[in-house]
Amino acid sequence: MHVLVTGGAGFIGSHLVERLLADGHTVTVLDDLSGGRRENLAPVGDHPRLRLIVGDVTDPAALGAAFEGVELVFHLAAVVGIPRVLADPLRMIRVNVGGTERVLEACAARGVPVCVASSSEVYGKGIRWPAAEDDDLRLGPPTVPRWAYAVSKLLDEHLALAWARRGLSVRVVRYFNVYGPRADPQGYGYVIARFMEQAWRGEPLTVYGDGRQTRSFIYVEDAVEGTLRAGVLPAAAGHVLNIGHPEEISILALAEKVRAITGRSVPIRFLPLAEVYGPDFEEVPRRVPDVSKARALLGFEARVTLDEGLQRTWEWWQACQRV
Ligand code: UDP
Repeated sequence: MHVLVTGGAGFIGSHLVERLLADGHTVTVLDDLSGGRRENLAPVGDHPRLRLIVGDVTDPAALGAAFEGVELVFHLAAVVGIPRVLADPLRMIRVNVGGTERVLEACAARGVPVCVASSSEVYGKGIRWPAAEDDDLRLGPPTVPRWAYAVSKLLDEHLALAWARRGLSVRVVRYFNVYGPRADPQGYGYVIARFMEQAWRGEPLTVYGDGRQTRSFIYVEDAVEGTLRAGVLPAAAGHVLNIGHPEEISILALAEKVRAITGRSVPIRFLPLAEVYGPDFEEVPRRVPDVSKARALLGFEARVTLDEGLQRTWEWWQACQRV
């Protein structure tokens, strides 16, 4: 198949592109390289079945060129990561909502099936955990800029389902804290990437708040498998699916794990959230997915344990620093 991956030079996108090429597909990447990086595609950079278009998903001309000959779309292009969202909420809303609207319109006009990337951030502070796709959501007020990202992704989901009602073959994946090689500690602010960078430099690991908040981390290879299945399996059409790992860990325990795996005896420094993100910030105290729908519809289950994934990420990190 000829597959378009928007945001294909990003963290998850570049792994998806690699996998699609390995499976024999032809891939077009549309990425404006604002969050994504050319280096992320370096392992497949000159692949004869890969075409990179540097452009913005909100630009109709770039989209028109990217859609030529395309039979399936993975729409991953978005402004992601709390630091970026807080830095320019307006741009984030324009790209995340405007971009998805354009991509869905282009898919509908051509009858091309699409998988839209969303986020577990839409659950907000959550009603109950593990959270299932049909659960109610609990977001904070618009005076707290963090929630703008959740709202942007929620609107993307509504757009996708509205198009599904008009006959478009569309599905949505909600990612739960994806980690692995190429996650950028600066760009996205991902906690695991940050801890690894800090450990590498021999600096303290910065735990925000008291470290008792929890997350569930899914290794990028697993997230790609779930995404692919959602994209190609007819049973996924019209559905929203959690893509996550059911194992939950506190951020303090995570810091201790990173310290053990990296073998660096760095201290842990607790930082008040207000000091990091300012006073207008709300933390999500707990986040863990109910994975039964993805298991039932896609036969998908994350396989890589946190220990194994952290080990692999650390090996990649060290190899990168030596280059
Ligand atoms: N976090 C932390 N130290 C850091 C970066 C993040 O303790 O240097 C915490 C953050 O407060 C949150 C969790 O790690 O509770 C995950 O943060 P991330 O930004 O990776 O993703 P989120 O789930 O908050 O979107």
